[in-house]
Amino acid sequence: MTINILTVFPEMFAPLQSSVLGRAASDGTIKINLINIRDFSASKHKNTDDYPFGGGAGMLMMPQPIFDAFASISEPGVSIYMSPKGKTLDDATARELAGFENITILCGHYEGVDQRVIDNLIDREISIGDYVLTGGELPAMVLIDAVSRFVGGVLGRAESALGDSFGDGLLEYPQYTRPADFRGMKVPSVLLEGNHALISAWRRRQQLLLTKRMRPDLLEKAELTPGERRMLEQDDALETQ
Ligand code: SAM
Repeated sequence: MTINILTVFPEMFAPLQSSVLGRAASDGTIKINLINIRDFSASKHKNTDDYPFGGGAGMLMMPQPIFDAFASISEPGVSIYMSPKGKTLDDATARELAGFENITILCGHYEGVDQRVIDNLIDREISIGDYVLTGGELPAMVLIDAVSRFVGGVLGRAESALGDSFGDGLLEYPQYTRPADFRGMKVPSVLLEGNHALISAWRRRQQLLLTKRMRPDLLEKAELTPGERRMLEQDDALETQ
């Protein structure tokens, strides 16, 4: 997958060189193409922003440098503007976007971008939550990380997305590693006994109870058996064993 990023702060993307995404970039699974919008400014001082018509606080990113930066991309694919006004990013959107060969992400700054950019160049507006950040670079990195996890070859065995929260509409079950007894805090015994059917049943029950406690809204859409729905109705207490 190729991800084109349009930004006035390309240096902010240094974190993408580390860890799982850094490995995906060096082995070519994900190609990150950083495009500095400022390089395309036709103005003498390489300006990228100006005052909004009609007045108001702050500056707005001008259309010309963005249109020309966008035109420099040979295969933009699906174009996304990171924006607090957009659809909130979720697991389903991340999985869907992972199916595209090319993605282009526009990062706004200041008060955002001229509306003609959005109307003419952008396929989707995506938000990372109901709060406002100073720029679209951190939201773009959040989106890239979430999408990349579903691109084949990005996650190694140790980082598998299988069973992660939201995959089956529920939160993930609690997990434990060695030692089995840490300062008197014991791992649930079912996990130590090697009975895989019992372990699966325990994990499913924990997922249901945890989701009920932390994110009851998810249960409305999750695919549950009638027995699971009954269990949740009856059991108000979250147990870990
Ligand atoms: N004036 C805009 C508004 O009220 O909707 C906010 C502009 S914000 C200060 C600057 C840029 O940060 C935006 O253009 C956008 O690219 C990015 N941004 C801020 N919050 C965001 C969020 N929650 N999700 C995605 N992008 C965001």
